Amino acid sequence: MHIGKIAHIGVAVNDMQNTLRLYHETLGLPLHGQELLESDRVKIAFLPVGDTEIELLEATDPESPVARFIEKRGEGIHHIAFEVDDIEKALTRLREQGFRLIDEHPRTGASGVRVAFLHPKTTGGVLIELCEKNAKHQPG
Ligand code: ZN
Repeated sequence: MHIGKIAHIGVAVNDMQNTLRLYHETLGLPLHGQELLESDRVKIAFLPVGDTEIELLEATDPESPVARFIEKRGEGIHHIAFEVDDIEKALTRLREQGFRLIDEHPRTGASGVRVAFLHPKTTGGVLIELCEKNAKHQPG
């Protein structure tokens, strides 16, 4: 398995507009794209920084995973996303090694990127997302 880089760090927030005052207006990170990911009932904004990105996540439904996360643990870092060359191969390897997968098969995440999540129960409490390489987030 080859991890290229940290694709992004996901941050769960209550109020996207308010949070953008920090990351975008004050820290000056460019706002790369905002989109609604219906499947996860979440609004997403990407802010590139160096070779990686900050991904802000605001729930659009009080029952969505991000809303439940904030309810339990408050706002904050939600997941770390690693970029992998071949997501199917990575999932097979992780499964063989006994790691619990949330997504048995890759699914379509933000910007049409193929992603899969590992269960934090077997990763030391960190929600890890795998993102397949060469899927640059497009502006807009
Ligand atoms: Zn993510």
